[in-house]
Amino acid sequence: MPRKSKFQIKILGAYGGRFKDLGTTCLQISETILVDAGNIMRALGEESLKINHVFITHAHLDHIVDIPFLVDYTFRYRDQALNIYGHRETLDAIKSYVMNWNIWPEFSSIRLLNSGDYAVNYIEIEEGQEIQVDGFTFIPIESNHTVKTFGYIIKKGSSAILFTSDTFKNPSLWERVNEDSSIKAVITEVSFPSYMFNVAEVSKHHTPRTLREDLKNLKRENVDLYVMHLKPSALQELKKEIKEILPEVEILSDGDKIELQ
Ligand SMILES: [Zn+2]
Ligand SMILES: [Zn+2]
Repeated sequence: MPRKSKFQIKILGAYGGRFKDLGTTCLQISETILVDAGNIMRALGEESLKINHVFITHAHLDHIVDIPFLVDYTFRYRDQALNIYGHRETLDAIKSYVMNWNIWPEFSSIRLLNSGDYAVNYIEIEEGQEIQVDGFTFIPIESNHTVKTFGYIIKKGSSAILFTSDTFKNPSLWERVNEDSSIKAVITEVSFPSYMFNVAEVSKHHTPRTLREDLKNLKRENVDLYVMHLKPSALQELKKEIKEILPEVEILSDGDKIELQ
């Protein structure tokens, strides 16, 4: 009998902005692997010492904000580089605008105290490439956002989850889900209420109505659907609207866990 693989994703940060206890996009895939860096330190504390791999979807601040603090806190303890994966444009933006000695030290040129490794190792990845890390396979796929943005298919054994990160309508993404029955769940986003369609369209985010339209492209029924990235300034109205317009969709909050069989 084939062994069933199982994995659990923990949502460390679920929101499209920071407010009181609400953190921005950050998913924990395993003890050592994260997708996006919006809320690492407050969610993980000392557990952040175990993180060796961070897959970045895009360079917007709410997705990278804790990279500097993760490297700063873990620097004196680490004995291997922190691997940061992303599209070339994403990594270039982090290197040029943040980890550049002006905003924060350029840790990719500073050696760790406990080994000869540099503190940070940037790894460029491409759409469709399969990246194996600690028993997981990561496949970047293109999302439809204002800057180059990767979603990720994350596979372990016979199960996979697709995380779109920030995106507007993207029919090709749903085609991918239709074609690949190993994808058991999709985490996508809704940022603004439908009456704010103009700002959603120009910033390439979903409203409940645009996601409803986009979901016409999904032809499978056995896929669990989740949304995150709700803007804290519109939280209550968004929750109400999502319940009405997208009743099959579950809204994620910080600390939620998704288990895949
Ligand atoms: Zn974004
Ligand atoms: Zn975002």
